[in-house]
Amino acid sequence: MNYSKDGDLISLQRIREENVESAVFKALEDIHASRLFPKKGMKILIKPNILSGKPPERAVTTHPLVLQAVIRWVKQFSPERIIVCDSSGGRNPGLTEKAMRGSGIKAICEKEEVECFPFEKSPRKTYHVPSPLVLSEFISSSLIDEADLIINLPKIKTHELCTLTCCIKNIFGTVLLGNKAKMHTLFPRVDEFTAALVDIYSVVKPQLTVIDGYYAMEGFGPAAGDVVKWNLILAGYDGLALDRLVCKLTGLDHNQVLYLEHGAKKGIGSLNLEKFIIKGEALEHVYRKFKPPKKLPLGLLKLVPRKIHNYAAKILYRSRWQVSPEKCRLCGTCWQNCPVEALTPPNGIEIGKDIPIWDGNACITCYCCTELCPYEAIQFKVPIVRNFLFSKFGAFLVGFLCGLGILIALLIIF
Ligand code: SF4
Ligand code: SF4
Repeated sequence: MNYSKDGDLISLQRIREENVESAVFKALEDIHASRLFPKKGMKILIKPNILSGKPPERAVTTHPLVLQAVIRWVKQFSPERIIVCDSSGGRNPGLTEKAMRGSGIKAICEKEEVECFPFEKSPRKTYHVPSPLVLSEFISSSLIDEADLIINLPKIKTHELCTLTCCIKNIFGTVLLGNKAKMHTLFPRVDEFTAALVDIYSVVKPQLTVIDGYYAMEGFGPAAGDVVKWNLILAGYDGLALDRLVCKLTGLDHNQVLYLEHGAKKGIGSLNLEKFIIKGEALEHVYRKFKPPKKLPLGLLKLVPRKIHNYAAKILYRSRWQVSPEKCRLCGTCWQNCPVEALTPPNGIEIGKDIPIWDGNACITCYCCTELCPYEAIQFKVPIVRNFLFSKFGAFLVGFLCGLGILIALLIIF
């Protein structure tokens, strides 16, 4: 078998008549994934997306049926252990466990009799990043080192900060709880944060990826967007190429997915889809335009001088935190998990009236609160006109125009 050629295989399979297992098995056969199991008794680590405890139909987490199909497929090779792990988005211990139960992941693992626990319940290990782009080390689980094979099981979702969350972003979940929050404070700018994602991926290096496009998410992802029932499974080896392909299939602008360029620079994969053999469905048959998240069009960087772009990013496109008092249950998840303590509890405790207090100057727009709010009560809005009017330039312009108006009026009158 030609290994380098197999590394260039990708499979794209439709889920027909809700038969998820058949689509997953076909995709893995297409790419000859059995070659990754040269012996019995291997230790297999599976990393789904278990961001929070939302039900599978909400499309926030990897669908349990996709996970179940992968577990069943792996069982054919008689591994010693199959371990399903993640560390969910928050800072508090117990959140991942809760997310595993609420998402249906734990139940599937119990049914299939495989291990399922949060990364934070395994021994910690500090990993050093060779030739880092921005991040020289991070703390994760020792399982990353100990596993014979890591299978990445991401979900296709739009992402307010990164535009897309799929293969590369899913591996951020191997970083333990509070260390994730620290990463947001270390790299508040999206270009640096996405470079850190690539540094982490370059160390974890999952050997196999199965993408859950059964239920995907568009718009205000990764936690409060709209569900897209897409019935799609992708499998391959090169996470970077797969993410690039997902952009192509969803119409998301790949120039906005900054980790793609960082990943190509670091050499964790290829962006040249021409060199891959894509088996299964034809791309044009599965194409579905996704609503992008609302954010500054970074592609503009190429068209306008950097100074103007930076001004737009800082002033015009500044997001404002908004919470729906009707939806907010004052559960405290947001203020307990904000990495920079930009959120504090309200003075009152009347549900439906009182809401958490947001400090716009402290907020680094990491979107952790929107991702974690169990009631989808938080949104970020970009009020461009308001931002402009309240900026120094806007205030000056308004003042100047008012002055000019008064002057013209005086000249007309006298
Ligand atoms: S906004 Fe959401 S996370 Fe924050 S207190 Fe309200 S319900 Fe909880
Ligand atoms: S308020 Fe929300 S978006 Fe802002 S820093 Fe805190 S968690 Fe992040």
